[in-house]
Amino acid sequence: MRKRVVVLGSTGSIGRSTLDVADALRDEITLVGLAGHRNWRLLAEQARRFGVRHVAIADDAHVAELRAACPPGTRVLAGPAGLVELAVSCDANFVLAAIVGAAGLPATLAAVEHGIDVGLANKESLVVAGSLIVPTAQRTGARLLPVDSEHSAIFQCLQAGRREDVRKIYLTASGGPFRQWDAERMHNATLGDALNHPTWSMGPKITIDSATMMNKALEIIEAHWLFDVPAEQIGVLVHPESVVHSMVEFNDGSVIAQLGTPDMRTPIQYALTYPRRPAGVAPLLDWSTCRTLHFEPPDLERFDALRLGFASASAGGTSGAVLNAANEAAVEHFRAERIPFGRIVALARDVFERHRPAPRPTLEELLTQDAWARQEVDRCISS
Ligand code: NAD
Ligand code: MG
Repeated sequence: MRKRVVVLGSTGSIGRSTLDVADALRDEITLVGLAGHRNWRLLAEQARRFGVRHVAIADDAHVAELRAACPPGTRVLAGPAGLVELAVSCDANFVLAAIVGAAGLPATLAAVEHGIDVGLANKESLVVAGSLIVPTAQRTGARLLPVDSEHSAIFQCLQAGRREDVRKIYLTASGGPFRQWDAERMHNATLGDALNHPTWSMGPKITIDSATMMNKALEIIEAHWLFDVPAEQIGVLVHPESVVHSMVEFNDGSVIAQLGTPDMRTPIQYALTYPRRPAGVAPLLDWSTCRTLHFEPPDLERFDALRLGFASASAGGTSGAVLNAANEAAVEHFRAERIPFGRIVALARDVFERHRPAPRPTLEELLTQDAWARQEVDRCISS
């Protein structure tokens, strides 16, 4: 069946890669809706280039500019509610969720509630509300297809055996730019240092999360929800080459891994074409040159975020919402150069440890805890 795709966050790094994939696979993919935050110029250009008739912009201050720049007859929606509306009103059968942060939750949840398959890049929505999204998807029949490279890899590796025979899931991590830095040097790393990722080219927030390894913490929680595995069955391995995208160890001792170049277009395409594997746009691994792959256990002292990720995956309830929101707020403060790099995780830890997770939260409770965590970070910084 032809894929009719809405891309939420089409102006971002994952969004633009998704458009590359859609362009290469135009025989089977039609883009029907595009949404972004503020970049109306790029959004209008994308709508024009792909003949998309439905667009949405989250920041409604730019709606007039967007409307003027789009071809006549384009339906232009605005504000967070406009994004939700876009996700469910374009007759799409696939939503690529590529908004950054908890801001992506409402539209992702709406798609799942409508039984629309979701290609999930926006890991934060699952970290915050996995306890709502996963059961909703089971009820409506919406499929959650991972786009995050590690989770795409695990999803692929799991096809080699039965779920009950899985011993452990190993998420690989590049280790980020500070893998070999000592704690003191890391504490005072600049924004430029943190944005200098060794292997992946990504948006700024996830790049900073990779430097603190909070990205891997969020991915532990994401894996817990996507694959229904407890924290004890999830491991993290630092693998600086970013060629092995993750692995699954089965009870018999066999370890199945998925490899490829570090290019997000491969997992994006797999989510869109699953279970088929047509020729892709990403470059192939070059096996003609000598290649060495390294693996090492992560340093939990320097990268305390990982401990928080495991703790949150075990605690469940509202804890993911709190950890994620505190981290988002702290990253914003670091990007605005109000706090040193070393305070990002310290702030997230402080707020996380003061929170008492409530089990089985409603969406309202999750959003209340999200707002509380952001306020706490602001309060800590101003006091
Ligand atoms: P990005 O910053 O490059 O793009 C973010 C997109 O979200 C943009 O289109 C932006 O307009 C939109 N956006 C931002 N704030 C918004 C808001 N408040 N409301 C609505 N839209 C908003 O980020 P990215 O690197 O493309 O990451 C997107 C998501 O994918 C994140 O959740 C990230 O963790 C995940 N992810 C990214 C990569 C990667 O390689 N970039 C890999 C794995 C997972
Ligand atoms: Mg990842």
